[in-house]
Amino acid sequence: MIYLDANATAPLHPAARAAILAALDEGPANASSIHAAGQRARARLDGAREQCAAALGCTPRELIFTSGGTESDALAIRGAQPGRVVITAVEHPAVIGACKQSGAPVVRVGVDGNGRLDLDALDAALPGAGLCSAMLANNETGVIFPVEEIALRCRARGVPLHVDAVQAVGKLPVRLSELGADYVAVSGHKLGGPHGIGLLYVRRGARLTPLQIGGHQEEGRRAGTENLAGAVGLATALRAAAAELPETAQRTAALRDRLEAAVRAVPGARVHGQGSPRLPNTICATFDGCESEALLAALDLEGICASGGSACSSGTLEPSPVLLAMGVEPSRARGALRFSLWSGNTEAEIDRTAALLTGIVARVSCRG
Ligand code: PLP
Repeated sequence: MIYLDANATAPLHPAARAAILAALDEGPANASSIHAAGQRARARLDGAREQCAAALGCTPRELIFTSGGTESDALAIRGAQPGRVVITAVEHPAVIGACKQSGAPVVRVGVDGNGRLDLDALDAALPGAGLCSAMLANNETGVIFPVEEIALRCRARGVPLHVDAVQAVGKLPVRLSELGADYVAVSGHKLGGPHGIGLLYVRRGARLTPLQIGGHQEEGRRAGTENLAGAVGLATALRAAAAELPETAQRTAALRDRLEAAVRAVPGARVHGQGSPRLPNTICATFDGCESEALLAALDLEGICASGGSACSSGTLEPSPVLLAMGVEPSRARGALRFSLWSGNTEAEIDRTAALLTGIVARVSCRG
């Protein structure tokens, strides 16, 4: 298998796997129990939070363990209880869904053909808003947003900022306290940690009404017995990602560029977001007359795992809302193909994928 779908889920880092297994082998452990086993669990949970904080550049008390990116987005957006929310036109469904459930009116700020946010339109939308939500990096195109710049504009108008950093953490150096955001969402399985665990950073003093109430876990901000093994796995993955980052980002970018050159050489191909700063691992392409599902099925037959736009919308023939927002024609936006690399990919894998691509596109194209 050639795995080129790390933006859907990155492979579990071996150090995270070892840490999770060790945590599970410790026996029953509820960090709220008074007895010795409970105290050991509490110490391990506190240790995991401290490691996460050190890797992310914030204080441990600013981090809430959640079940993943979707919950972190929901807790920030619904927990901020905004009157009106300003979001970018290319946010993940987790953000769009949370806005919908909050009941707040939503203003969407557009992007250009390269996926770059219209900062003048953002300025016009901010006055009077209760929250702005912007992603750090787009899951489909890998386009990176100027979050520090967005934060300055939000601060000038007294609007709190939530940043969905789910795709950025682990792929880019991210220091949470330097982003200028009030809330930041992180997901374990996107960065070499396990599924079912994530983090929400909440700047000290930022408003947060809990979604789940009951127990006093996470300082009353997220009730429910903590996922200790998940937290330990996430902390280990974050630490490993931070230590390995400069080297893995460089290697991955070189492999991505190699594959992207092959993609561009396919007749009728277009790579989206190419003119913007992008994650080092992501390629989003479309091909004349091709639909995502046919491309993905043909790649799958060759043992190659990729994705059509976001994994959450695969299985449908809907055009990618991200590409539509970038001005791509609906017929073309139906054919989004995303390759997202990880640190374990090899030159041989990239060359095999590249060698198969032109033939696959010619086979599945309705113009072929
Ligand atoms: N935000 C972004 C940008 C994502 O790419 C994803 C997942 O694809 C999420 C949020 C949701 O994260 P999770 O799968 O951990 O719920």
